[in-house]
Amino acid sequence: MEKVNILIIGAGSIGLSVAKVLSEEFEDIVVVEKEDSFGRHTSSRNSEVIHSGIYYPQNTLKAKLCVRGAELLYEYCKTNDLPFRNCGKLVVATDEDELPALDKLKENGERNEVKGLEMIDENECKSLEPQIKAIKALKVPSTGILDTYKFMQKLECDAEKNDAFICYEMEVNSIKKTENGYVVNFSNGEVFQANTIINCAGLFSDKMAEMVGIDIEKENLKIHWCKGEYYKTTKIKDVKHLIYPLPDPKGIFLGIHLTINLNGEVRFGPNAYYVNELNYSMDETYKKDFLLAVNKYVQIDEDKLQLDDCGIRPKLQEEGGEFRDFYIKEESEKGFPNFINTIGIESPGLTACLAIAEEVKKLLNR
Ligand SMILES: Cc1cc2nc3c(=O)[nH]c(=O)nc-3n(C[C@H](O)[C@H](O)[C@H](O)COP(=O)(O)OP(=O)(O)OC[C@H]3O[C@@H](n4cnc5c(N)ncnc54)[C@H](O)[C@@H]3O)c2cc1C
Repeated sequence: MEKVNILIIGAGSIGLSVAKVLSEEFEDIVVVEKEDSFGRHTSSRNSEVIHSGIYYPQNTLKAKLCVRGAELLYEYCKTNDLPFRNCGKLVVATDEDELPALDKLKENGERNEVKGLEMIDENECKSLEPQIKAIKALKVPSTGILDTYKFMQKLECDAEKNDAFICYEMEVNSIKKTENGYVVNFSNGEVFQANTIINCAGLFSDKMAEMVGIDIEKENLKIHWCKGEYYKTTKIKDVKHLIYPLPDPKGIFLGIHLTINLNGEVRFGPNAYYVNELNYSMDETYKKDFLLAVNKYVQIDEDKLQLDDCGIRPKLQEEGGEFRDFYIKEESEKGFPNFINTIGIESPGLTACLAIAEEVKKLLNR
């Protein structure tokens, strides 16, 4: 049986950030990942946006870790010469009815200490983005984009430089608490003993908590999968900012927005609907919804939209349910000392990943 000090489950942006940050202080760290490479799930199937933190209720982990995480992420990209762009975004109101919600969003962002928020009128909006229709917009200068693949590759490299091991094709099958920590069984027959476990298993993070013995129904920690699809277009070019509509009033997602990647290519999405299976296949069922949503703020015809990609959100918020925050906790109170859960790490999880790692480190040092 292999003995390790800290076992991190999952090599997405969260597991790799945790490995990078913890390996600066702790020894004998192993990351185990069921796929054959890092970031094969949610961390590579997202909008690649560095969020500012305007949306989330004040004092929530989502608000605090997004603002702190964005700072850390920009700094990390700059220091390590990783591709990113601080392009800024415009949240656009397209009719009078939306103006109160736009004002509220600005107030919320200011409460969360997001810097530089500015309301701009129709003319200023036109001068910044001539192709975009809006009667008013909230300009958010701290928003940006990054290359998630290169970012995760660098995290992996940094963790390995600090002697952490990343082991692929290692699927956790069972976790048992013992007198000295935890015994973990893998589907390939390997067995590890770990003093500390950090659960960063994304879409399966509730299953890891359940494996150790936490009653996820009773503790309200069941993950609900919520799919989001993207369409791309080559018709629209030269957009400089990310363009967002007002967020979905039910709080499930941010609205079908326009993002650019580092090459300036435009795509729209994601939409949001709950699913029961982990299936990344796509069809055009929701194309009309996309057209309707997108044409509120930009002119585009149906034949200029092509299916692109999709991702699945690991949400604690169930369908029709209330806002849920990130769940990041050391589980001594539940009888599982040195077992740290990160559950429900949906958006802005990519932005927040380095701040989440700092939070995990604080929990270990308590
Ligand atoms: C459509 C969409 C758009 C988004 N856009 C943004 C955005 O623009 N900006 C932003 O900040 N956030 C965004 N997010 C959220 C962000 O992508 C996630 O919060 C983040 O990627 C979560 O990372 P993770 O490491 O927790 O999960 P993952 O990347 O899913 O990593 C978890 C890993 O655990 C592994 N694993 C699972 N079970 C086991 C097991 N039994 N044994 C071993 N390994 C296991 C998985 O294989 C996986 O690699 C978006 C999400 C979606 C779905």
